[in-house]
Order: sequence, then C-alpha cells, then structure tokens
Amino acid sequence: MSMLATAPSLDIFHRRESQVRSYCRNFPALFSGARGAVLIDEDGNEYLDFLCVAGAANYGHNDPPIKAAALAYLAGDGPIASLDLHTQAKRDFLEAFTAHILQPRGLEHRVQFTGPTGTNAVEAALKIARKATGRSSILAFTNGYHGMSLGALAATGNAQARRGAGIPLAHTVFMPFDGYAGEGDGLQRLARQLDDPSGGLDLPAAAIVETVQGEGGCNAASWDWLQRLQSLLRERGILLIIDDVQAGCGRTGTFFSFEPAGLDPDLIVLSKSIGGLGLPMSLLLLRPALDLWEPGEHNGTFRGNNLAFVAAQAAIETYWCDGLFASGVRARGDILRARLERIAGRNPGLAYTGRGLLAGLRCQDPVRAAAISRAAWTRRLIVERCGPHDEVVKTMPPLNIPIDQLHDGLDRLEAAAAG
Ligand code: PMP
Repeated sequence: MSMLATAPSLDIFHRRESQVRSYCRNFPALFSGARGAVLIDEDGNEYLDFLCVAGAANYGHNDPPIKAAALAYLAGDGPIASLDLHTQAKRDFLEAFTAHILQPRGLEHRVQFTGPTGTNAVEAALKIARKATGRSSILAFTNGYHGMSLGALAATGNAQARRGAGIPLAHTVFMPFDGYAGEGDGLQRLARQLDDPSGGLDLPAAAIVETVQGEGGCNAASWDWLQRLQSLLRERGILLIIDDVQAGCGRTGTFFSFEPAGLDPDLIVLSKSIGGLGLPMSLLLLRPALDLWEPGEHNGTFRGNNLAFVAAQAAIETYWCDGLFASGVRARGDILRARLERIAGRNPGLAYTGRGLLAGLRCQDPVRAAAISRAAWTRRLIVERCGPHDEVVKTMPPLNIPIDQLHDGLDRLEAAAAG
C-alpha cells in the first residue's frame, strides 16, 4: 500500500515547464515547507530528505542560526546583489573564511567570487590554469562530473550530458580514476605516457579531480592515490584542481575533502553548501601566484550575493570554529557506513560505496537501484541515484541530522532494499 498522499495538482509543470526537468520526475510531490532533514508537501506530508539539494543543504533546510542571520540582514536593508563592489557582508565573510577555514589549514589561497554555480567556478579554474601555463589541455578522470557549461562539460565523463553540448568537446584527456583500471591504478601509465616523447599526450595545463565522485557513483579515491597523483603532477609542472563542489564543505568529514590526504591543491572549487542556506554562491581558491586575472576577465553579474555571504559567515561561525561539528559528521558517517554495509550484507548484489555522508549502495543491477529509490520514496525517504548506469542509491543526509532521524531514514532504506 502506498503511503503517499493524493497527488497534488502538477498540471502547470507538465504543460509549461521544459522537458529538461529531472529530479522532480522521481520525486513528484509539491513541496511547500522545509525544516532540517524534512521536506513537507502541500498536504502536510513529511519526507526525510537524503538528497539535500545535491549537497547544497549540508546544514539541513532553514537551519535556525543561519536563517536568523539571513533574516536580520534582510530586515536591515543591506545590499542584496552588488557585483564585486566592497560590501560589509562580503568583508565579514572573507574575515570569517580566512580566520576559521583557510588560516587553520595553512592555505594562503586568494578567494575569487565567481558566478554562483559550481559550473561557473569550474570554468574559472580551467581558464586560469590555461592562462597560467599557456597550455590548453586538461586531464580529467573517468566518471568525473564538473558541470554543464562547455569547458566543465568537456571534463565530465557522462555521455548523455556530453551529447547535450551539440559541438565537439575538446581540450580534455580522460584517465582512469582510482579503482577504474582494475589491478593497476592508472597513474603509472599516466606518468609513462607523459614522459614518453611518443606517448601522445600534450603536457596538460591541469588535472581536475573530485576526491569522491558524487555524480559518478560515490567513488572515493584513496588517500594514497590522491597523494601520488599530486606528486606526479607537481613533478611535471601540471596544476592540481580539486573540485570540492560536492564533497567539500564538510560532506566527507572535514571542511575540505582532501584534508586527510594532506593535499595542497593549486586551485580549489567550492560551491553548493558554501552559501549556508542553499543560497547560490561559488568560490575559486587560487594559490597567490596563480591569481593572474586582468580585472574583469572572469566577470559576472551575480558574483555578489550578499545574503549568501551572510549565511556563509553564519555557517562558518556556527559550525567551523572548532572541530566539534566535523567530528559529529564523521560519527554520522560511521553510522551510515555500518548501516549501509549491513543492508548490503543482507541483500546480495549490493555493496557500500563512498566516504562520510556522501555514500551509497552500489547495485549490480541498475534496475534494482531504481526499485530501491522508488520503494524509499513510497516510505517518504528521498534518495537519488548516481553512477554511469544510475546503479548507485546515493544517501546525502544533512551533516547535522539528529542521530535518531538518521536511523529512521536508514530503517526506511533497509525496508526499501528488502522489499
Ligand atoms: N562539480 C561537482 C563535483 C558537482 O557535483 C557539481 C554539481 N553536481 C558541479 C561541479 C556543478 O555545479 P552546478 O550544478 O552548481 O553548476
């Protein structure tokens, strides 16, 4: 028996909204409220949200301290949009980000405010890497996802997404991500090809990599692989871009996903939850020597979302002034892993994949993943799928989800997987 309420009127979406819509096809409710880990539809039904705006709602929906800061800012008539003008809100964000995020981690990077999508910050990273090195080619990795505009799409593996470009996607070469090449890990071959005058690879400007591939299937690179990748690149003067759009902002247990590997990336891309409340905001962090932009060379109207800056500052000051929040994320990540492994142990053909709170169940049969996600939806749990065949059921609960709610969601997932 379905536990879903009668379908709300969705007529206007079907008649008027573009075919391009995707998430709403799998979760066809009409949402009107959101609090913490819960989304509420117009009939008052509550859904546990383990999708969290694909990682843009890491602190849950309408997190009270962050919302209070945003409300106070709105009430005070501060500028909302401001291009790249100096504003108090931006100054206070930069101070907080410097004091609580960059300095404690020994990062001297400059902060570039790009257009508010992850894709736009990726474009900025690729452009400045090309400008700094005078080279055009970018190393990307199998199953990587970096966004939908042409430069970022060229570094994205997914064939369906690439087809949407309508023109050849050029100036990228793909190499195997950790675990993709089977026995060997691909890095030795990459080094050999780069060093071989007949290896066929032009020296790339940069490599762009996710430490955990979010859209590509919750594939976690080992620390060792990432360290060896960084050394290989450094030795050859190739820049390292970490795309932390999805795995960053605490999702995998540390603010930057690469911290446990001790990486020192040349360029770091942040988006999604940096804006605290789900407000659009993206950053490119540049090693100072790479800050080679001419004024206005990567311009954009919406680089000054002051409400997002205020929410971002509140998120940092509420959660990132000490290590407590991050250790809470890691504890939740351990619970998630243990429970997903238990589900996998009871259901042949399923396996745990991921890291921290960016983890899922890899299903040998993609049809099974679709069935689990659908069955979870009937239990009012929102879990999306990812991976090249949509074969991974992906769980991304809020980082501060109460433990009993986390178990509640996982009970529903367990029932969905068994059913
Ligand atoms: N990089 C990664 C790793 C992502 O997961 C995403 C979005 N899923 C992007 C880039 C693109 O971000 P946006 O959708 O905001 O353009």
